[in-house]
Amino acid sequence: MPEPLGVYVHIPFCRRRCDYCAFATWTGLEALWERYVAACVAEAGERLPTFERPATSVFFGGGTPSLLPADLLARVLAAVEEAAGLAPGAEVTVECNPETVTASKLRAYRAAGVTRLSFGAQSMQPHVLASLGRAHRPESVRRAAELAGEAGFAGAYNVDLIFGAAGESVADWAATVEAALALAPPPAHVSAYALTVEPGTPLSRDPARHPDGDDQADKYAMADALLQAAGYGWYEISNWALPGAECAHNWLYWSEGEYAGVGCAAHSHAFLAVTAGDGARSAKRWWNVRTPERYCRLVEAGKTAEAAGEVLGPDERASEELMLSLRTRRGVPAEALPAELFEAGLVERRWLPLAPAVRARGWGQDPCAPEERAVLTLRGRLLANEVSLRLGSVPVGGGA
Ligand code: SF4
Repeated sequence: MPEPLGVYVHIPFCRRRCDYCAFATWTGLEALWERYVAACVAEAGERLPTFERPATSVFFGGGTPSLLPADLLARVLAAVEEAAGLAPGAEVTVECNPETVTASKLRAYRAAGVTRLSFGAQSMQPHVLASLGRAHRPESVRRAAELAGEAGFAGAYNVDLIFGAAGESVADWAATVEAALALAPPPAHVSAYALTVEPGTPLSRDPARHPDGDDQADKYAMADALLQAAGYGWYEISNWALPGAECAHNWLYWSEGEYAGVGCAAHSHAFLAVTAGDGARSAKRWWNVRTPERYCRLVEAGKTAEAAGEVLGPDERASEELMLSLRTRRGVPAEALPAELFEAGLVERRWLPLAPAVRARGWGQDPCAPEERAVLTLRGRLLANEVSLRLGSVPVGGGA
C-alpha cells in the first residue's frame, strides 16, 4: 500500500479582500487567470511525477478557488491526474466562497472529479459578516448548501466558521453554529476558527475590533458542545466531522505526510532517503514564490518556482509530529507529558494504536500493543499552546 500523497493547488485570487485576511491572495487580477492556470498545469507536470505515486487527496485552496471559471479549475485537476494519477477513492476538495457558487459550476466540479466542497461561511449573522468585512449574506450559504446537495455533494461538504468578531454576542455565535447545522443538506464537517489578528491587515490597525480571549474560549466551548451533541466528533483543535467525514488532506498535514504544492506560495513536504540505521527519516520542506506574476514568469521561463526550503532531521521531524499530533484526537504518548498536566485536567489517558513514527523516536515498546496516549481535554484544547510547550519535557522512559 503506497503512502498517502496530497496535492495542494493554491488559487491566489479573491473578489475583495477581507479585513482579517493575511493569505497570499490578490484582487483585480482577472487578466492573469488563464496564464496562472497554464503555469499550474506546467508545474504539476514537472513536479508531481517525482513523487512516483498517485495522489490520495487534492485540495484547491486560496484565495477563492471557486472564483475561477469551472473549466479552468478542471484543467488543473486534469493536469494533476495526468501527472500523478488519482488513487481510487481520492478526496478532491475545492474551497468555495458561497456567493461565487452556481448550479452549473458545482455540476462541472462534480463532472471533473471533485468529491468535496468547503464553504467559507464564517458567520450566519449579517452584522457579524459585515464586521468581518465579508461580502456575502447568510442566504448565500443556505443557497450554496442546497446547490451542493443538488450537484451530488450531500454529505460531502464542510463549512468554515469564525468566532470572536467585534459585535458578535455569545447568542449570535450559538445561532451561527445552529444555523450551520440546520443547513439542508447538513454539512458533514465543520471547522470553527478563533479570529486572529494578523500583522498588516486592516483588522490589526483597529484595536477596537480585536477579539477577546475569554469570549473566544466561551464560544469555543459552546461550539464543541453543540457540535458534539449533533454527532460531529472533534478530531483536531478546530475541526469536527460526522463519522468517516474527516478531511483526509488535512490529516496528511497533521501526520507529517508527503504533499506537493502547486501554485504561488504553495508549500511542499517530501521525505529524504533513509540514512539512519533505525529507519528514521529526514524530510525537505520548501515553498514557492509568493506573488502570482512572479510565479508565472518563472514557470514560463522553465525555471523552478521554489523560493526557499529547509531540511528537517529525524529529531526535528519527530518533535514536529508530536506538536501536530497533540492537536488531534490521536494525541501523543502519555510519557511525553508531565504528570501535572493530567492532574490539572488538561490531558487525559486513552489507549490507542501505536503510531510508527512515534516508535521511531523511542517512545513505546511493543509495536503490536496499543499505546497509552495523552489526548487534550476540552480545557486542554483551550490551552493547547501551553500544553505544547511542555511536550517532550519529560526524559524518554520517564513516567507521566
Ligand atoms: S475570501 Fe478568504 S482568502 Fe479571500 S480575502 Fe477573504 S478570507 Fe482571504
